Amino acid sequence: MAEKNKVPLFESEIIVAKFGGSSLSNGDHFQKVKEIVTSDERISFVIPSAPGKRFDNDEKVTDLLYECYAASSAGESIDDLFDSVTSRYDSIIADLGIDLDLTEEYTHIRWAIMHHAGRDYAASRGEYLNGIILAAFLDFDFVDPAPYIKFADDGLFESEITDSLLYTELKKHRHAVIPGFYGSMPNGTIKTFSRGGSDITGSIVARAVMASVYQNWTDVDGFLMADPRIIDEPRTISTITYKELRELSYMGAGVLHEESIFPVRNAGIPIVIKNTNHPEAEGTVIVSDINAPEASSVITGIAGKKGFSVISIEKAMMNTETGFGRRVLEAIEKEEVNFEHLPSGIDTMSVILSTEEIADKRDRILDRICSTVEPDSITIEDGLALIAVVGRGMVKAKGTASRVFKATAEADINIKMIDQGSSELNIIIGVEESDFVSAMNAIYKEFEK
Ligand code: ASP
Repeated sequence: MAEKNKVPLFESEIIVAKFGGSSLSNGDHFQKVKEIVTSDERISFVIPSAPGKRFDNDEKVTDLLYECYAASSAGESIDDLFDSVTSRYDSIIADLGIDLDLTEEYTHIRWAIMHHAGRDYAASRGEYLNGIILAAFLDFDFVDPAPYIKFADDGLFESEITDSLLYTELKKHRHAVIPGFYGSMPNGTIKTFSRGGSDITGSIVARAVMASVYQNWTDVDGFLMADPRIIDEPRTISTITYKELRELSYMGAGVLHEESIFPVRNAGIPIVIKNTNHPEAEGTVIVSDINAPEASSVITGIAGKKGFSVISIEKAMMNTETGFGRRVLEAIEKEEVNFEHLPSGIDTMSVILSTEEIADKRDRILDRICSTVEPDSITIEDGLALIAVVGRGMVKAKGTASRVFKATAEADINIKMIDQGSSELNIIIGVEESDFVSAMNAIYKEFEK
């Protein structure tokens, strides 16, 4: 249903709040969630994940359910595994002191998993059961998303049908809990999104009900300027655009499922990342370009990944050979490999690829390139790390690239590749994997000021 044909669901503003597994892993967390939800009457729809880890070596309920499915498919007993699932829920119910008995649900789910109800079905029950408990605890309606969140026979998500079905159903509920992560196929079988997909459900619901904000509650204060495992106490980003977020997530910065930005982005709904354990923190607001406030700093964030390989091709007069680049890329495409970057010179061209993706295909890729473009030389080198320096503030600032190079040069780091998109939203550099951490730190320090 196109947004313009929709009448607002209710007279008042609506907020959709999604709580991740770490925010719903035990009774204490459920209490915090209740405080958050009841303190803001605009929160009408709540999307829960399945219970996450309570401590370092704990198992996520979703992982236990995948294990149940695997055991059942191998003809083994699922009893012990399934008991660890039900005891997670029973201890939450006991902590909350609510009058809820899930025995019948457990019996049915155990039976269905034993009778080949499917891998996605098994995994989805994590959110389903958590949703029932949360709805009872909040005194909200429970809405099973299966009849409304639809996938086509080829497994692709049906956004328009879903939008209209959800809109029509949710009009009937002033307050509801809708489990994340799954929907259904045309024949009614359960289908999940990819891992972490409750974020996507939240975004789809926010679009359907025309929420003013999509709150995504997790266990960090927001999106950080850099990975805290690499940079000591990086700053939290207060506002980031969808485009900047895409660039940073692609390079490995992850708080939100990548696909979850599309439904709300198209509908112009901001996402706010908030911390369930620290709700006073402002969090990070993700907005579209048009609504973005002027950047307060040149750089919004830095992210990076190791594990890239470079194929370097040299051929004299390459620049005069029409179709040279296309033929190289075609050779790579034939091996079903995506290329990441393509820096090139007059007589040289480099293709950057994921080392893991080309693992057993490298010789074939090189052979194909050699036979199609007959280069003077071709080499392949592993061990490259890429770092993306991202910021909408770069367009206006002069000298950003020179600051990146100065910072890395002063840290005695050799830059092996440079790529700047013409949108001036990011500068990507390639360094030796052994220089990765020091390069990230040098660049962060330079722009932190
Ligand atoms: N429970 C699912 C997972 O662990 C989905 C989610 O948490 O968003 O991937």
